[in-house]
Amino acid sequence: MNAGATVATSRIEQTYLARTRSSAEAFGRAARVLPGGNTRQPAFWRPYPLTIERAQGHELRDVDGNRYIDLNNNYTSLVHGHAYPPVVEAVREQVERGSGWAAGAVAQVSLAGQIVDRVPSIERIRFTNSGTEAANLALTMARAITGRPKVLMARHGYHGSLVEFESGHMNRPWIMTSLADFNDTESFVRVLQAQAEGIAAVFLEPVLGAGGIIPATPGFLQAVMKSARSAGALFVLDEVLSFRLATGGLQVELGLAPDLTMLGKFIGGGYPVGAVGGRAELMKVLEPDEGSVFHGGTFNGNPVTMAAGSVAVKELTTARIDRMAERAERLGEALRLAAAEFGLPLTLGRVGSLMNLHFIDRSPTPSAHRDAGRLMSLFHLAALNRGVFIAPRGLIALSTACTEAVMIDAENRLTAAMKDLADEL
Ligand code: PLP
Repeated sequence: MNAGATVATSRIEQTYLARTRSSAEAFGRAARVLPGGNTRQPAFWRPYPLTIERAQGHELRDVDGNRYIDLNNNYTSLVHGHAYPPVVEAVREQVERGSGWAAGAVAQVSLAGQIVDRVPSIERIRFTNSGTEAANLALTMARAITGRPKVLMARHGYHGSLVEFESGHMNRPWIMTSLADFNDTESFVRVLQAQAEGIAAVFLEPVLGAGGIIPATPGFLQAVMKSARSAGALFVLDEVLSFRLATGGLQVELGLAPDLTMLGKFIGGGYPVGAVGGRAELMKVLEPDEGSVFHGGTFNGNPVTMAAGSVAVKELTTARIDRMAERAERLGEALRLAAAEFGLPLTLGRVGSLMNLHFIDRSPTPSAHRDAGRLMSLFHLAALNRGVFIAPRGLIALSTACTEAVMIDAENRLTAAMKDLADEL
């Protein structure tokens, strides 16, 4: 794609092009060496993504010198914002003592201990480098434990970019994956009964994240877990995104004890991470002598990530989680009022500090935000023009660096962006 040749068809796009000329040039250079000019599709948008030069606290600065309030926080993973001083200090200290070796590391035991202390269903934990790798490991373990090949997940669920889990997200029916409807227990029971001998594990998020921040309805997860177990399958709860919403993850709030739990995102303090945890009895498939699953990974549990993660987890207190949730709720209310004033359809999916804007005039259903295509993309660019960074699909994830003053500023800017969008229509 030639960014220089992009034709703006709206005032919002024209403003974006005029403000981000250096990003356009940087994207042109990137597209010559990286497919699509990027290293992950969720960090791409049209006409071209910004190139960010530096990030500090709640703020991003692009190569044109524009500043943005970051309400994305690397898709939820920077729960304390960018370059959080206690994380930077821990990382600096660790880097000076070495960044990896093929033997044990004290920092691994510290972070593992913190997580085991917070989550009763996790007695042992194995670290990986991403949530996607955690999904891969959990599936491999489930296959080894049950001797079955298949996986059952929610339509529009997301467990990383692994071929077995793509169907929920990309609507591609891969052979090993069966789909059922989120918040519809019966549809899960039907698949489990029909394929009782084949399903190794049911994977579910307690909140559909990429599906638009849609929470599980009361009782849904418990009921599916029960029928998974009676069909002889494992129940894997994907808390990669939701672990920041309560100190022991949402499972503690919901009184849920999954067989395996996937973690990732903020537990690495902003550095690459993933993990699978569970009862000792199941996790022993990874033990060198007894286990039947080989799991390597040169960078698993690398001490830099572990040191950063320990600080991030320790400093995510209930008080901070509650404060972020209150601020997200107030922002949501303000955006709802602004949308009503400007005659725009807007509904919100929100759980705690996570929120998804849906430019639709009905309650959000899984992936409904994808129907809002043009409105959402224009609002995304309008928000950037006004100095607020949100995900192209409308995801907002606050950090503890989003103070009261930052939130008021963000609210005013996003309200102005709503008006820009209304003026465009
Ligand atoms: N699971 C959930 C619920 C996620 O939201 C994500 C990422 O957004 C993943 C798994 C994959 O994690 P990663 O991007 O670290 O591979």
